[in-house]
Amino acid sequence: MPASNPDAAPDSSDPSGPCPRCGRVSNFGVLGSLPISFGDTYTLDGTPERDALDRVSALLCAGCGQASAVVEEKWIGDHPAREGIGGGGTITYRGVHWWPPPSSADLDESIPGGLREGYGEALRALSARAPRAAVVMLRRTVEGIVKDRGSEPAHEALKRSLASGLRVMADEHTLDANLADWAKEIRLTGNAAAHFDPMDDVDEAEATELLRLTRQLLHYVYELPEKLRRSRQS
Ligand SMILES: [Zn+2]
Repeated sequence: MPASNPDAAPDSSDPSGPCPRCGRVSNFGVLGSLPISFGDTYTLDGTPERDALDRVSALLCAGCGQASAVVEEKWIGDHPAREGIGGGGTITYRGVHWWPPPSSADLDESIPGGLREGYGEALRALSARAPRAAVVMLRRTVEGIVKDRGSEPAHEALKRSLASGLRVMADEHTLDANLADWAKEIRLTGNAAAHFDPMDDVDEAEATELLRLTRQLLHYVYELPEKLRRSRQS
């Protein structure tokens, strides 16, 4: 079975994660599945059966009570079934496409629209198992945060790396120092934007960590001050 990932959109093999509709992390029940593409025909108890390679499943969110459609690819052990039986293994169905597209519905309005959209696009890319595309959008989002809320020295530091820009913001108390430390530990914040090659190898776990960091940056820089302001007013 693939490892459970609470940051990835749900599928039948891992029916938990952010809901494509309400954006909250939730648990899901499978309402039903239908095959949509076929491989070889084989015979089962004398009856010809077509091998389903992809199927569509309806997953019901325990939070909002609405279902999402997930196109799922059949896997055997550690490889897609369309590559053959190979060494064998457990059959699982892994999501490759979601409807509605995974949303960033839980992002507060206090976050600038462009940054919300960039983060949302990264979320959809990661859910479609496109980690490099996700990383490109996440790096643009982090860059946008530093450009929007960072000082002139932070903008200068951004030319060295994203982590340097965030460090300057932490030194100037615009950012929590723990977030700047975390950014420094992540390889994907290391290279200067101009030197980052989107064709470099990026795995899903690395992209997911950058996603989590970006979510926390958005929370600390925009949502938290706005929530405090609203609390004081009420
Ligand atoms: Zn939901």
